[in-house]
Amino acid sequence: MLSDYIVAAVKTNPEAGAGGISLLVIDRDMPGVSATKLNKLGWHASDTGEIAFDNVKVPLEHLLGGENRGFYYIMDRFQLERLIMAIGGVASAEFALEYALQYMNERQAFGRKINQFQALRHRIADLAAEITRAKYFNYYLAQMHQEGKFVVKECSMAKLLGTELADQAMYKCLQFFGGYGFIEDYKIARMFRDSRIGTIGGGSSEIMREIIAKMVIDSVQYRSPYASVAKASL
Ligand SMILES: Cc1cc2nc3c(=O)[nH]c(=O)nc-3n(C[C@H](O)[C@H](O)[C@H](O)COP(=O)(O)OP(=O)(O)OC[C@H]3O[C@@H](n4cnc5c(N)ncnc54)[C@H](O)[C@@H]3O)c2cc1C
Repeated sequence: MLSDYIVAAVKTNPEAGAGGISLLVIDRDMPGVSATKLNKLGWHASDTGEIAFDNVKVPLEHLLGGENRGFYYIMDRFQLERLIMAIGGVASAEFALEYALQYMNERQAFGRKINQFQALRHRIADLAAEITRAKYFNYYLAQMHQEGKFVVKECSMAKLLGTELADQAMYKCLQFFGGYGFIEDYKIARMFRDSRIGTIGGGSSEIMREIIAKMVIDSVQYRSPYASVAKASL
């Protein structure tokens, strides 16, 4: 595993649920720490492993922030993580479209460039419109984030839409490459695989829908936990 240390969210008071989690910095070479490499569908440039801890003794000074405050720190960063994943999804969809357009301008079939076939042109038009819409939603949310607003509903929506759009874009763009789309020499094959994690990691699409539904249907409100924690204990 490629790391010198791990920041782990550990249960320091198991009965307290979310209020019993702390962040600890754990050195990779501490006795009892081990990792197994996971064989993934994509994202091979990113090292992912299953980490195990067996009676690891962690010095008190390795505690990050307040004891039992870990979940609130993580929660506070969720909106930014969702926004980053939304931006990543839309940017990769945009890149896939540009790459497909380049190929479609070179490849000829039945005596014409394939970018002249109406069936494909309309799909391109739909994709370009969806990417543009999602991109401007992300710009708006980046502005809100910059202003320090805690926008849970909209960031969850952006993560849901942006990562699902990326998956659809990869699927559709791969199709434009025909047989070459299935060949590793063309990077659209790798992009198709890499994109698949977007709707799973950082809160899956189902969890995003759960959050949005709670806010839209049940009028649940979320506010930054960090603000109150900061006052109370830091
Ligand atoms: C390559 C990779 C990198 C990762 N990197 C990190 C990382 O850096 N940090 C980190 O903390 N985690 C990381 N993860 C873990 C990732 O966040 C989880 O895999 C993801 O959140 C889904 O959780 P799970 O695997 O336990 O799926 P499960 O919770 O078992 O979900 C299985 C299915 O059930 C659905 N589901 C679960 N609960 C509900 C519900 N309440 N309502 C409706 N549907 C539900 C899920 O959406 C999913 O479709 C990584 C995972 C991968 C594959």
